[in-house]
Amino acid sequence: VDPPETILHAFRAAVRAVPDRTALAYFDGRISYGEADSLSDGVAAHLAARGLGKGDRLALMLQNSPHFVIALLGAWKAGATVVPVNPMYKSGEVAHVLDDAGVSALVCADRAWETYLRETAAASPVRIVLTACELDLQSRDDERVLDFARSGPADDADDLLAVARSGASAPAGREPAGADVALISYTSGTSGTPKGAMNTHANIAYNAERQHTGHELPDGSCIFVLAPLFHITGMVCELAACIAGRGTLALAYRFEAGVVLDAFLEHRPAFTVGPSTAYMALAARPEAAPEHFSSFRILASGGAPLPPALVDKLGETFGPYLRNGYGLTECTAPCASVPPGRVAPVDPASGTLAVGVPGPDTVVRIVDDEGRPVPLGEHGEITVRGPQVVPGYWRRPEDSAAAIPDGELRTGDIGFMDADGWLYVVDRKKDMINASGFKVWPREVEDVLYSHPAVREAAVVGVHDAYRGESVKAYVSLRPDASAAPGELVGHCKERLAAYKYPREIEILAELPKTTSGKILRRELRSRGGSGDASAGVSA
Ligand code: ATP
Repeated sequence: VDPPETILHAFRAAVRAVPDRTALAYFDGRISYGEADSLSDGVAAHLAARGLGKGDRLALMLQNSPHFVIALLGAWKAGATVVPVNPMYKSGEVAHVLDDAGVSALVCADRAWETYLRETAAASPVRIVLTACELDLQSRDDERVLDFARSGPADDADDLLAVARSGASAPAGREPAGADVALISYTSGTSGTPKGAMNTHANIAYNAERQHTGHELPDGSCIFVLAPLFHITGMVCELAACIAGRGTLALAYRFEAGVVLDAFLEHRPAFTVGPSTAYMALAARPEAAPEHFSSFRILASGGAPLPPALVDKLGETFGPYLRNGYGLTECTAPCASVPPGRVAPVDPASGTLAVGVPGPDTVVRIVDDEGRPVPLGEHGEITVRGPQVVPGYWRRPEDSAAAIPDGELRTGDIGFMDADGWLYVVDRKKDMINASGFKVWPREVEDVLYSHPAVREAAVVGVHDAYRGESVKAYVSLRPDASAAPGELVGHCKERLAAYKYPREIEILAELPKTTSGKILRRELRSRGGSGDASAGVSA
C-alpha cells in the first residue's frame, strides 16, 4: 500500500469515508471525524486570519488531550510547521525552543499562560496565542489527572475551543506537500541540548502507514496514547498511525498508571506503544490483571531499551507479548520493529533482546568510525537510510551534515546484526564506560539487574575512579513490596558478569530520574558521581 502523501490527506479521506466514526475518545467525551474536521477548520481559519503564513512555526504545548489533536490538524491545514513542546518545560527551556525555531504562534494551557508563559513569550517572536482549558472536551472532572482549573480566557490570548467552534472554513491554498516540514521536533535531550529535527509530512505519512500495515492493525482499530504526543513516538506511532488507519485515538491526558489501566478497560484498545518504563509502572500496580491487557492485538515498546526480563514478566503475568521497536526522533520514530507472528531473539552472548528487523524500504548498516561496514555480528554504529529519515536539523547545517551525511543517519547508537537480519542495540556510543581500558556497555549490566526479582528500575553509569579511570556504578529502584540490600545485588551481577563489568557500587533510590517521555536519565545520575557513601552502596 502506498502511504498517503501527508497525514492531512489521510485525515480528509477518513472524514469522507467515516464521518461519524469516533476519532477521539477522552474519558467520557467522544469526537467524530466529521466534528474533528470542522473544529480543526475553525483553528486553521483563525490562524490564517491572524496572519500566520505557510511555513510559519506554531508551538504546540499541551498534554495528551483532544485539544492537542485539533490544534495540530488546524495548524497543518493553515500550512504551518508545528513545534511540539513538552508541557512540563520550565520558562528557560520553552524560551530556547521559541527562539531557536522562530515561533510566531503558541497554543498552550490557559493556566500555563497565566502563570509563566505570558512572561516567557513576551521576549520571543510569538504574536498569536491560543489557550486551552483541557477540561472542556470531556465530561469527567477527574482531579487525579487534571490538575488545573479553568482560569477564563485572557484578553491577550484567544480561546482554542471558541475559535475551533466558529464554523469557519480552513483557508484555501495552504495544503502542505510531502516535502514540507510538518514538525520541528526537539530531541528529548537525554544526551545534551535539544536540537530541532525537521520531520517532513512525507516522513510522518510513511512511518504512520508502516505502523498501521506493519503491525497488521485492522482499519478502525482503537489506538491508546501511552507515549506523550509531544514526543515523536506518540505523534507518529499513535496519533498519525491512528489517522492512517481511520481508527479511534483514546487519550488519557498524561501517564498515570492507575488511570491508564482504567482507560484500557474503558476503551478496549487494540494497539499502544510506550517506553518500557511505562510498562514497568503498569505491571507494578496491584490491581493490574490479564483483563486489562486482553483487548490488545499488539503491545509495543519503543524509544528506550527493553529489558528481556520485563517481556517475560509481562507475558507470564498478564498474557501479551511486549514487542520491541527501535527508532529516533531523526527517523520519525521507528525504523525497526518485530514483525507480527515473530518473537525477537535474545543474543546468547550478551543477553540483549533484538529490537526488530528494519522496515521494507529501510537500509540499516553497522559501520566503524570511518563509515565502513563491519563484519556481521560485530559491534559498530547503527546507520539508517530510508523514507523516514529527516532531511536535517532546523537551521543547523553543520550538525545536519555531520549526523546525516548523504541522507544516511548516523544514529550515535552502537549495535550489531545477526545472520537472520535481527538488529540489536548495544547502547549509546557516548554512554560506554571505560573501566581500566575495558569497554562496558551499561545496558548489558542493567539487563542483569532487571533479572533480579526485587529490581523495578536500573541505570548504570561510569563514575570517576582514580585507579581504573572509570568504574561501574548502578542506581536501582525496587518493586513496591520487595527488598534487597545493595550487597546482594552486587553479588547477583558478580555471578553473571565478567569481573570488569559488574557494578562496584549500587545505590538504591525511591525512583530513578526520567525525562517526561519516560526515559531514564543516565546523564543526571552520572553527574551525581560516585557516592563513596558506604551506607548507600557497596564498594568492592
Ligand atoms: P537526545 O538525542 O537529545 O539524546 P534522545 O536520544 O533520547 O535524546 P530520542 O530520539 O527520543 O532522543 O531517542 C532515540 C534513542 O533512544 C535512540 O538513539 C536509542 O539510543 C534509544 N532507543 C530507542 N529505541 C530503543 C530500543 N528499542 N532499545 C534500545 N534503545 C532504544
